[in-house]
Amino acid sequence: MKLVKTASGKKLKISKKEWQSIGKKAGWMKKAREEGFEGKSPQIQENIKKVAPNPDAFSGNDSCAICKAKVNPETDFKDELSIKEWKISRMCQKCQDGFFE
Ligand SMILES: [Zn+2]
Repeated sequence: MKLVKTASGKKLKISKKEWQSIGKKAGWMKKAREEGFEGKSPQIQENIKKVAPNPDAFSGNDSCAICKAKVNPETDFKDELSIKEWKISRMCQKCQDGFFE
């Protein structure tokens, strides 16, 4: 299994193939990763929202983009890296733990 480094510096736990199939299915992850989300133009943000499993996660609603769990950014993340990842992909700590080393 090849470890893939993500924009936040985290390493993916799943294989590149799995990652790509998730990305292909949803398309959002790739967009969010390549482009980031915060500080992006409304058009790009709209595009990301359109393909995310849980678009509300990108609408100022602090919920996970994958499992839709409520997220409290102040308390739910175990380190700076996880918070950084949250800002990029809107994944909760649990989903991050499933995805990353
Ligand atoms: Zn989640």
